[in-house]
Amino acid sequence: MFSYHCFEPIRTASGRALFVNAAGFGNTTQERAQGPEHANFKPHTEGGEIRRPEMRLMKNEMSFQYFFRKAPFAAVLLNMEGTAVDVNDRFVRLSGYRLSDIADGKPWPMKIFPDATLRRSLEEMWKEDISRLRSDATERKRIFPFRSADGRTLFIEFSICVLDGLEGYVLLGLNDITERRNFERDLQIRAAERTRKLRAISRRLRQASMEDTLTKLAGRRCFDIVLDREIRRAQRSGGYLSLIMADIDFFKQYNDCYGHLRGDECLRKMGQVFGTVFRRAGDLPARFGGEEFCVILPGTGREDAMRLAETLRRSVVKLAVPHRESGVSPVVTISLGVTTAFFPFPAPEEFIDQADQALYKAKADGRNRVSFRDSRASTSAHDHSTREPGPRHTS
Ligand code: GH3
Ligand code: MG
Ligand code: MG
Repeated sequence: MFSYHCFEPIRTASGRALFVNAAGFGNTTQERAQGPEHANFKPHTEGGEIRRPEMRLMKNEMSFQYFFRKAPFAAVLLNMEGTAVDVNDRFVRLSGYRLSDIADGKPWPMKIFPDATLRRSLEEMWKEDISRLRSDATERKRIFPFRSADGRTLFIEFSICVLDGLEGYVLLGLNDITERRNFERDLQIRAAERTRKLRAISRRLRQASMEDTLTKLAGRRCFDIVLDREIRRAQRSGGYLSLIMADIDFFKQYNDCYGHLRGDECLRKMGQVFGTVFRRAGDLPARFGGEEFCVILPGTGREDAMRLAETLRRSVVKLAVPHRESGVSPVVTISLGVTTAFFPFPAPEEFIDQADQALYKAKADGRNRVSFRDSRASTSAHDHSTREPGPRHTS
């Protein structure tokens, strides 16, 4: 006969220290190997024969104690108020805290959960969970940040469960998911970064299709969208809408004479002139295609549109880009067609066609001039290249 201590003494669920004076768990190696279930257990505190229910209780407590200590997960035993009454080896390893460090007699120890708001919500959830656990005894899981003894913030998945035979206590299992969480957060950050890059690329692509890269003016797509929008707006709120269409004179000859690259350079310069002349918010100079440009002029009547077209024509002449092969001038010139609409407004294609017809007339009349065509006129077209400047109408 010999005595041994398989387990450290603890305060049990029922509050008694049954193992403290226990002696003679076994007297053979075989019995020992079979574990405490088969021990020749004779606690001398009771003196004499042990009663069967008590024996069962002791066995339960021994099993629990063994399981609790050696469990392959961190665990804390709490009373119903959420106060720690015991911790196991894994918990000490995970958190760096021993029971004496965290058993401050209060629910949710300050050291582990220093954040007051978090502790309050923990307390509320605790009450809710406990009342549910009492009714259906299903395990509850929650994730909270947790401060370890060395100051690290760990993310712990807590499982709360009640165990049969341990009335008045709750087992809290702790699963360290910090690495998993960090990994998931990294993935999220990377996904967000990828989304941001993709958005930036698609924005740039959208802008690219909206802007003409050579002249830096609005591109054809942008022109179409804005013209459609401005016609609808004018249709709704009234007022004039004018459109200028400009085309470089004898540009084919320019390319033939100076080369395509110089041709591109000339188009770039045209873009700058358009950008300089049309500065008012709402005016939209755009490259319509090839060596043709358009300007949408919301709230602009015929007189002002003609004046602006003439200013543009003169600005191009002033630029003084030599053009040996031009049939009308020693420098690059443009011809312009202007049209103005008011209620009821034509469809965009019809409006463009009116401007195009005015431009055709300017070309036919000798180029380097401005021609006007009323948007509702079907036949008459007027050349107003010398019209005096006047105020622009805005309604
Ligand atoms: P008109 O006075 O009647 O307008 O004669 P034009 O020579 O200007 O007209 P045409 O339509 O015969 O020629 C237009 C020329 O514009 C032909 C084409 O090569 C040139 N062009 C169109 N787009 C570009 C471009 O992006 N770069 C260059 N360099 N040339 C272009
Ligand atoms: Mg052309
Ligand atoms: Mg041309």
